Amino acid sequence: MLAAMDPLIITVYLFILAWGAVWGSFLNVVIWRVPNGMSVVSPPSHCPKCSHGLSWWQNVPVFGWVWLGGRCHFCKVPISPRYPAVEAVTAVLAVAVAMPWVQGWLSGDLEPWRAGLGMASEHFFVFACISIALIDADTFMIPDPLSLPLPLLGIALAVVLGEERGVLWQEAAAAALVAGGGLLAVQWGYAALTGREGLGTGDVKLLAGLGAWLGLGALPAVLLSASLMGLLFAASSALLSRGSGGTEGMAASRGLASMRHVALPFGPFLVLGGLGVLLLRRQLAPVLAPLFGG
Ligand SMILES: [Zn+2]
Repeated sequence: MLAAMDPLIITVYLFILAWGAVWGSFLNVVIWRVPNGMSVVSPPSHCPKCSHGLSWWQNVPVFGWVWLGGRCHFCKVPISPRYPAVEAVTAVLAVAVAMPWVQGWLSGDLEPWRAGLGMASEHFFVFACISIALIDADTFMIPDPLSLPLPLLGIALAVVLGEERGVLWQEAAAAALVAGGGLLAVQWGYAALTGREGLGTGDVKLLAGLGAWLGLGALPAVLLSASLMGLLFAASSALLSRGSGGTEGMAASRGLASMRHVALPFGPFLVLGGLGVLLLRRQLAPVLAPLFGG
């Protein structure tokens, strides 16, 4: 049994933290450029206002933004705090999803290649989810190059690491079909009843992807938590919009009316629910197992 403060463990996690931050920096590029049909590799990072290129130290995740004081070094235009936030969140999530794989590798329970593949795949899953959530929040679109690989890779991964991840390929495939098909049916029903499109096809591919990665059993928790968060968010934005402008009564009715027509991207909430289940499942498993006779 290795002590928690073992220098090897600390080094491994610091490396994964830095690795996640660098990926977070790349996700900022993906989130900005993919919806605009731009290349994610060239040109290198530059200020969108004055087009000045960033030097290496300005490109360092999180710290670059802090050193710059949140402004472009050359034209002083403010740089959104969302950039360092995405880098920090990506770094922390990278460490969180890596923990079971690192523990399995260090304890000798997992062959190194299985631990490495498991960690790398779950990193890919988390990075794709973060990009999808923010692109959907920005543009109300989920690009196919990000959402389509999720169900396919999830099922492929279940073939190789089904036992280790607790999602066998049969379950992954069934979950992708049920989730995708179910949401597609809801979408058709909603469109037939209201004549409006309530959910995008991007949501269907995303939920099929979450199903393939998390398994059939996780779907109710993902859908329920995503819907609750979406409702809470819609209700609070409707309430907040009451306070802005107009006489009180008119503003209040406008606020409540706007809640019925508010266009709300569902992707970010599905991603929050999916990542929550991914992170909580291993922690909850020992608590839930006795309840189900495990
Ligand atoms: Zn600038």
